Amino acid sequence: MGCPDMEGFSPTARDHAENPRHHGRLKEFHGHARVTGPCGDTMEYWLSVRHEKIHDISFVTDGCGSSRACGSLAACLAEGKRVEDAAAVQQRDILAALGAFPDESKHCALLAANSLKAACEDYLSRRDQSIGAAPRENDCKGESGGESQSVAAMRLEGESEKDFIERRALHDRLSRIQRKIIVLSGKGGVGKSTIAVNLAVELARTGYRTGLLDVDLHGPSIPTLLGMEKETIRGGAGGMLPAEVDGLKVMSIGFLLDNPDDAVIWRGPAKMGAIRQFFQDVAWGDLDYLIIDSPPGTGDEPLSVCQLAGRLDGAVIVTTPQKVAAVDVRKSITFCRQLRIPVIGVVENMSGFACPKCGEVTQILPSGGGRRIAEDMSVPFLGAIPMDPKIAEACDNGHAFLRQYAPSPTAMIMREIIRPVLELRRENGDKHELKTTSSKENTPMRFAIPLADGKLTMHFGHCASFALVDADCSEKKILKREDIDAPPHEPGLLPQWLAEHGVQVIIAGGMGSRAQNLFQQQNIRVIVGAPADTPERLVAVYLDGSLQSGENVCDH
Ligand code: ADP
Repeated sequence: MGCPDMEGFSPTARDHAENPRHHGRLKEFHGHARVTGPCGDTMEYWLSVRHEKIHDISFVTDGCGSSRACGSLAACLAEGKRVEDAAAVQQRDILAALGAFPDESKHCALLAANSLKAACEDYLSRRDQSIGAAPRENDCKGESGGESQSVAAMRLEGESEKDFIERRALHDRLSRIQRKIIVLSGKGGVGKSTIAVNLAVELARTGYRTGLLDVDLHGPSIPTLLGMEKETIRGGAGGMLPAEVDGLKVMSIGFLLDNPDDAVIWRGPAKMGAIRQFFQDVAWGDLDYLIIDSPPGTGDEPLSVCQLAGRLDGAVIVTTPQKVAAVDVRKSITFCRQLRIPVIGVVENMSGFACPKCGEVTQILPSGGGRRIAEDMSVPFLGAIPMDPKIAEACDNGHAFLRQYAPSPTAMIMREIIRPVLELRRENGDKHELKTTSSKENTPMRFAIPLADGKLTMHFGHCASFALVDADCSEKKILKREDIDAPPHEPGLLPQWLAEHGVQVIIAGGMGSRAQNLFQQQNIRVIVGAPADTPERLVAVYLDGSLQSGENVCDH
């Protein structure tokens, strides 16, 4: 969204644009924030506070004339006010004070209001230390004038060596995270955290250095979902230390609560302060992926999360199949577009019911809402996860579903759904060595497909032959195919036999969950519900990420 020049603006706006008051940087300040607006422009405010009132304020922006006008006017509105009152200055206040302002420039006023608010909240959160369980790196100068060693680092932005070091440290903290993925939903209770947890667990299992950040202030369920209710926040020299489970680093706002049932009621500024601190102060170290479990909706909280996270590499939007959820999905997609966050795709959760015995999915209610909206708004549809009692059970017991029920049909579906996230790194041309043995990704992958008449047969356990197809996954190219006779039909023989033939993925029409379990033990991934097609086509669509797996036709 570009901004027009100052033609047609009110005299006040033109004056503020041409001679912006408070333009530049304060040498000494107590609150500071830099915010990126939906059009990519940034605005930065510095506040100096005396007796809880804004004594001095300044800003810079790399935006156009209307951004300067809005920034200057917001500073005028804030000067002399109590910090809490300045934080409440709204887009409409700035627009009202500017007089006539064209519609297409109104987002500049929003950027100014948001940046001012963020700077005020920065001050307030430092002052209150409202969640101060961890040692702070950046204590600011209090009214008493007491000056800690780190105060100097706050004082001379851009000029003080220490301040520069601090800014660089913050930047470095985020820049050590290669990929940041946000999981969003229109409302709570749709399975957003469940998907965030399983996505993070799968990434960690694959060998990626992964962090999971739960900033869902109103329902921080990650501690429960991962059996970490007893965790509290620990501070280290470099900031708050994430807890660890099975190689996954976890930080949750829930770790702040004494009792998981405690309602989290945050005051506005404390809320934003908490979110900010979770971004600034968690010592993640080097990460390949940070999965962020966002507060639901498209309001201030997810907005702050997105702004604080810096560049986000993608969003996974979780919804339920009902028609009423469609409106929320639209809003979430629009939200991502405004913030320039690529939408990885929409997941329709709790879509149908998975039979606890064979995994067959029955549609008990109308479904397909997520797919329709995704198609309508031209974003990928990642797939539908059925309502599965095993998911609820795993969540209640504090185990990641994908770990506890790895070979179940629903786990297969979930893994397929999150595959595009795992492939983000390769799509972006990253050269990454997994920390485990999974450099498999770079070597040919071997697929096995049970055959009858040259095509996939639904009778896996009784097929006469298998097609073994080798493919280069990164190039998405089939390298060779070899057909071999199946061994004699003996219970329990196939998993070992296929493992000995180097098979890593089986594409099948149907398979019982016991058999899937045995393959899983051999480290062979099984995809069920594939159609009766040729091996080459099946592998090609798998590599393409578009393999449609239908019903698991139980093979007894
Ligand atoms: P949100 O983060 O959207 O508020 P959660 O991920 O916390 O939602 O999920 C809410 C509840 O729904 C959890 O108890 C979880 O176990 C359950 N749940 C989520 N997805 C499924 C599913 N597909 N089948 C069964 N239960 C599910």
